[in-house]
Amino acid sequence: MTKLRLPGAGLAAAIIAAAGLLAAPTATAEVAPFPTLALPFAAGQQVYSAGIHSDDGSTGVKNAIDFSPADRTVRAPLAGTVHLQHCAGGDWVTIDHDGGWRTGYYHMEGIKVTDGEHVEAGTVLGSTGNALPCGGTSTGAHVHFTLWTLPDAPAARSDAGNWNGVAFGAVSTALATAYGEPIDGKVLGGWRFTAGEQQYSGTATHVTDNAVTQLPGRFRAKL
Ligand SMILES: [Zn+2]
Repeated sequence: MTKLRLPGAGLAAAIIAAAGLLAAPTATAEVAPFPTLALPFAAGQQVYSAGIHSDDGSTGVKNAIDFSPADRTVRAPLAGTVHLQHCAGGDWVTIDHDGGWRTGYYHMEGIKVTDGEHVEAGTVLGSTGNALPCGGTSTGAHVHFTLWTLPDAPAARSDAGNWNGVAFGAVSTALATAYGEPIDGKVLGGWRFTAGEQQYSGTATHVTDNAVTQLPGRFRAKL
């Protein structure tokens, strides 16, 4: 089976730290409220979403949603710092935002950003694709968008946030358990995403007019 290449003690400490956040929400080591994010692609176009699911598509926190925008261009939904996660098969992109929030972008091809680069909302990250840098599967060009929180303390965050060489099988299970945050209830670009009972389901509700799209399905990301 896959084995985490992170130091065992570091990961264990990070998991304990994450559990501590859940157990003591008023403690000082607290992640900021969910920030205002755009969708991870340009508004004004049709997008297909395969719906909300857990990172591994079967169990655990549903911290993932798949998007296939018509222009195939993935963009940062909020300013932050890029961390390219390297594997033998290539790289995938995470962005660390203020307040301990991290967003992830898997399956991208033609990655346009570099490790440590500061990006603004709207910066092109790459194209939707079927890349499997650390393993996994893909059945059609998309971006597998994920939500995470990392420990509040910078040192712990740096240790916990280095996922170089971590197989997707471990990212989507152990790391998702430790740091994954549900998509359910989150607003991206004026759309509220609600998880369904099943994997790869849910709704996208345009907040200002309550227009509801069932997922999987297509909606137009309004300007
Ligand atoms: Zn996915």
